[in-house]
Amino acid sequence: MENTIKALERKGYKVTVFSNGGEAVQYLRNALNGLTIGFGGSQTLTELDLRHILAENNTVYVPDFPAEGETFSGSALKAFNANVFLLSANAISDDGDIINIDGTGNRLAGSLFGHDKVIYIVGRNKFGGTLEEAIRRARNIAGPKNALRLRCKTPCAMAVVKDLEMKFREEYHTDGPIDQLEWQSFLAKLDSDNLNTHCYDCKSPNRICGSLLIHMKKPYGMDAEVVIIDEDLGF
Ligand code: SF4
Repeated sequence: MENTIKALERKGYKVTVFSNGGEAVQYLRNALNGLTIGFGGSQTLTELDLRHILAENNTVYVPDFPAEGETFSGSALKAFNANVFLLSANAISDDGDIINIDGTGNRLAGSLFGHDKVIYIVGRNKFGGTLEEAIRRARNIAGPKNALRLRCKTPCAMAVVKDLEMKFREEYHTDGPIDQLEWQSFLAKLDSDNLNTHCYDCKSPNRICGSLLIHMKKPYGMDAEVVIIDEDLGF
C-alpha cells in the first residue's frame, strides 16, 4: 500500500488513510461544511451512511436516493453541478490508476470535470495488481456483484444467484419473499474470491456496465483526494 500511496501522490492526488470507516466519516464530516455535495453511485458510500451524515451540514444530491418528487436524472444533474463530488473506485492498481465502470455515466462524468474537488473513498479490498489485473477485478467482481445487488437479470448475476439464494435461505431460515436489506447485507459479507463471479460481456437489456474510465492522473483544474480505509467496503 505504501508504494500505491506514493504513486497516487505523484499523480497529483492528496491521500489520507484511516484504519476504519468511523474515522474516515469523522474526517469528512469535519472537512465538508456548508457545501453542495454530489454523490456517484457507490455501495461504499451507502455502507458508511454518508448521505445522511453529510446532509447534517451540507446540501447533498444522491441520484440513487433522489429527494421526494425528484428523478434520478434531476438529482444526477444537481450532483454534477455541486461543489464537491464523492464516489468510490471499482479498483486501484499498484501504480495508482483509478478504475470505474458505470452504466449511466453520471458517476464517471462527475469524477472528470466541473467540481472544486472530487473525493474517492475506497476500502482496502479495491487495491492491488497491475492495470490489467485491476481492470479484470472491476469487470469480473465489481460489475457482477453490483448486478447481484440490484438483482439484475444479467448472465453474471443469473449464474450465481440461484446458488446464493439457497445459501441465503439457509442462513436466514426463510423460504418466503427475500428482504432487500437482509439480501444486501448478506451480499456485502460474501468473500469475493469464493463467489466465482464472471463478466460475460453480455448483450442483456439490463446490462449495468456501459463505460469504463481509467484516471491515469488527476484531471487538471480541480483538487482530488483519495481517502483510503483499511477495511473491506463496497464491491
Ligand atoms: S457486462 Fe453484463 S455480464 Fe458483464 S458484469 Fe456487466 S452486466 Fe454482468
